[in-house]
Amino acid sequence: MQNQRPDRIRKLLADLVAFDTISDRSNLPLIDYIERYLASLGVSGQRIVDDTGQKSSLWVTVGPEDRAGLVLSGHTDVVPVAGQDWSHNPFELVERDGRLYGRGTTDMKGFVAVCLAMVPEMLTADLKTPINLAISYDEEIGCVGVRPMLRDVARKPIRPLGCFVGERPGCR
Ligand SMILES: [Zn+2]
Repeated sequence: MQNQRPDRIRKLLADLVAFDTISDRSNLPLIDYIERYLASLGVSGQRIVDDTGQKSSLWVTVGPEDRAGLVLSGHTDVVPVAGQDWSHNPFELVERDGRLYGRGTTDMKGFVAVCLAMVPEMLTADLKTPINLAISYDEEIGCVGVRPMLRDVARKPIRPLGCFVGERPGCR
């Protein structure tokens, strides 16, 4: 399983990049995709939908649900591409000189792809501490999309131990 990991990450990243999730668009097709992927592994998530019904976060627990876990957090939206001098379709993952290019590869679908790619290993790891995935939207317009999910988490009977945000250095 371990040596399949780079291929799994790359496939997931290519699929995630292919969704145009610029912040003013719906991210629901991408959330559908993640849910289908997780369902294929027997994992379900909980949607936290915004007031417009066009965007959703996803909260996922892998491992035991009766104790506090560690959160891996990433956003699904990307910054616009209009007026930029792209040499290829920004919503297509392209490899050049050993690097992967496409809108959001670094910020931050790459982190989301890595987290999702690790779920099969999380499932076989007999986790004593659960891992939560907190997948949000509307980060690029002021971190607004994560707030309803944070309110939801704050109301849970068991709160997480901590959170890793896989944001690129220098970003808010
Ligand atoms: Zn970001």
